[in-house]
Amino acid sequence: MSYEPVVSHEAEAGDEFATRLKGYEGQRAAVARVGKDPVNAPMIRHWCEAMGDTNPAYSGPDAIAPPTMLQAWTMSGLSGHTRGTHAYDELLGLLDEAGYTSVVATDCEQEYPRPLRPGDEITYDSVIESVSERKTTKLGTGYFVTTRMDIRVGPDLAGTHRFRILKYAPRHRADLPGRQDRSQKPSRPRPRPVVNRDNADFWEGVQRHRLLIQRCTGCGTLRHPWLPGCNACGGLGWDTVEASGEGTVYSYVVMHHPPFPAFTASDHAADAAGPYAVGLIELAEGVRMLGNVLGVPYDKVRIGLPVQLEFQDCDEELVLPFWRAHGTREMQEAGA
Ligand SMILES: [Zn+2]
Repeated sequence: MSYEPVVSHEAEAGDEFATRLKGYEGQRAAVARVGKDPVNAPMIRHWCEAMGDTNPAYSGPDAIAPPTMLQAWTMSGLSGHTRGTHAYDELLGLLDEAGYTSVVATDCEQEYPRPLRPGDEITYDSVIESVSERKTTKLGTGYFVTTRMDIRVGPDLAGTHRFRILKYAPRHRADLPGRQDRSQKPSRPRPRPVVNRDNADFWEGVQRHRLLIQRCTGCGTLRHPWLPGCNACGGLGWDTVEASGEGTVYSYVVMHHPPFPAFTASDHAADAAGPYAVGLIELAEGVRMLGNVLGVPYDKVRIGLPVQLEFQDCDEELVLPFWRAHGTREMQEAGA
């Protein structure tokens, strides 16, 4: 999970409070603990069933645990209440006293240096890795606090789990930008997609207004999002096919709050900074991908709605694929 709050830096020369907060960096957030259960096949099986993950690496005699299960091995259950260290409680208390009384989890990052296998007994501890400068976000002004949990098997580092919260002073709803004038054009650019070596060719295709689907050269299975290997056969070879651009809404959510100025929802001006629909689009080729649904108001999006691919230049650098309800392009061109 990850979302980036809209952040503006505020220079604060000689801020004693900030210096005091910085003093907590490097202090323990949780002392060394032992995992409640060793890594085990039943928990792995339940996880895979819940996630619908059929990767063969997670079963059989040479099974490894799904890397994203990392945090599950550190959880103490409903009965085992986990308490932070004195330093961590003190840091949060200090922020509370200063008026930064609200908290929201913003994102986490994980690394997996060593696979976990059934029978491994894990230990873990956690450190306050960083306290940010004071930042002003859409939610209010506050400080990002990042803790890093290290999960070990014996002396070996098996995984790290970074967890970031924002401790903030909530601003009044009426102050939220975009609330007074909903028809205002977004002043911020859309967040950039995360382009990495696995998906670079997808985004390069989008730049050229071509929607490319990855195809396994071993078994022919199409896949999206882009991955280094095939979930069906494990093969690493792939090529691409170009999507026809036809699809239907497989599912959708409507985003209500908080309004995010970079996301104008659709081409309905009245919706700018208001609620907008995000569709999970099933392409004619069978794979699914996320995208904004255009051409209909957010509350008229329905499962099964036929949509057509439309590339839009969001700004000078960013092209994104959107999905327009069938028959509404003509309406838009006619000025409806
Ligand atoms: Zn395959």
